[in-house]
Amino acid sequence: MPIATINPVNGQVLKTYDPMSDEQIDAAIERADLAFRQLRGTTIAQRGQWLTAAADLLDAERDETARLMTTEMGKTYAAAKAEVTKCATACRFYAANAEQMLADEPADAGAVKATRAFIRYQPIGAVLAVMPWNFPLWQVMRFAAPALMAGNTGLLKHASNVPQAALYLEDLFRRAGFPEGAFTTLLVGSDAVDRILRDPRVRAATLTGSEGAGRSIAQIAGRELKKTVLELGGSDPFVVMPSADLDQAAEVATTARCQNNGQSCIAAKRFIVHTDIFDAFAQKFTERMCALRVGDPMEDGTEIGPLATERGRDEVHAQVRDAVDKGATVLCGGELPSGDGWYYPPTIVTDLRPEMRMWSEEVFGPVAGLFRVSSYEEAIEVANGTKFGLGSNAWTRDPQEQERFATDLDAGSVFINGMTTSFPQLPFGGVKNSGYGRELSALGMREFCNIKTVWMG
Ligand code: NAP
Repeated sequence: MPIATINPVNGQVLKTYDPMSDEQIDAAIERADLAFRQLRGTTIAQRGQWLTAAADLLDAERDETARLMTTEMGKTYAAAKAEVTKCATACRFYAANAEQMLADEPADAGAVKATRAFIRYQPIGAVLAVMPWNFPLWQVMRFAAPALMAGNTGLLKHASNVPQAALYLEDLFRRAGFPEGAFTTLLVGSDAVDRILRDPRVRAATLTGSEGAGRSIAQIAGRELKKTVLELGGSDPFVVMPSADLDQAAEVATTARCQNNGQSCIAAKRFIVHTDIFDAFAQKFTERMCALRVGDPMEDGTEIGPLATERGRDEVHAQVRDAVDKGATVLCGGELPSGDGWYYPPTIVTDLRPEMRMWSEEVFGPVAGLFRVSSYEEAIEVANGTKFGLGSNAWTRDPQEQERFATDLDAGSVFINGMTTSFPQLPFGGVKNSGYGRELSALGMREFCNIKTVWMG
């Protein structure tokens, strides 16, 4: 992949970058290591002031930054503005709560009498963050805000199609007051990751991206005995049971599938609907999906912009074609539009079977798979029947069923009667091939801490 800004609205190459040389990478790692020594000696209050300054800059520069994201990857301008605001909120959340999250925790040493025993959370050093383009700021911020507050430094290898967002982030933290080298963007391709991660000054890695990238990074980190957090793909189930509020479920289903032009890891992707209400739900869902306005992401009123890359759109269409060729039914969309830009229409495909790619693969675009089930047990079997386990969603007004879903869905999160989303306050992550480890909340911050036991006799 070239490191370049290419506008998905028309395929125009707006800016290209040469990848950094080995010498430049080495120098950046050295600066990150030196900055770590400096940062670990600062107080949490000081780091909190810098992070708050970053939040203020984000708020002040929201519109310009949002425009940049829309230009690089095609999300709607409204969604981009909301993303910038969400990042500022996360910075303020960690600035306000880190003191308490990182405070020494008294522990009971049990039979081994101590005058004092406690747990101390300490930073570990430079952490490599390999990030995707779909939320160019938010994906990075979920790592950066807690990591910097804990006293770690960050080395960002962002996706090759969002280089300007990547450079903006380095600049943001520098202007907010963090020491030189505390947060560095490495403009490199994925082929440089091996070399960076093997460097002894890089202590750990976090990746948000595909399963393939996850396996590759976990392999390198395994050889080097370095900690990793992996946030990988998902094919989240959205289960609708007979007691659900169908209008609300259909409304949220549409947003949950098509947010970010359908390119979200926690987008609902498989809609698993009880046969008693299947036809009613399918009709409401189809009406709403068909009514979505696809167009220029900078224009007011556009609900779906283009997909971020031509390759991504080809892949989505190939998955839909594969299902149709094997006998699936298209309820709306499914045709490649003519004209410029990597647009794809909101699409619903039903009558899916296990031999179709859409049954088991993640579809990274505004395409919903619709499944009919005849019992709670069958709903759980279909919902859990993929290799993924990121988020999940269930719609039911039956309190007993709600409790059962919360336990039975194999996923890192279960949202009942509401859309799966990420908040700074709640841990975020997956099980199975969706990855391991958690981001956000105190748990996310502690992933890259030395959880040190201190015992004093
Ligand atoms: P991707 O190809 O894996 O790219 C993500 C990042 O990994 C990019 O920076 C990419 O660099 C790098 N990369 C790719 N292959 C690599 C390798 N072999 N070794 C090291 N680095 C590598 O992912 P994508 O297709 O752009 O993004 C969509 C995927 O991310 C979907 O599966 C989605 O579900 C997942 N995702 C997960 C979460 C979550 O929180 N669980 C959130 C968002 C997205 P280049 O750009 O230079 O190739």
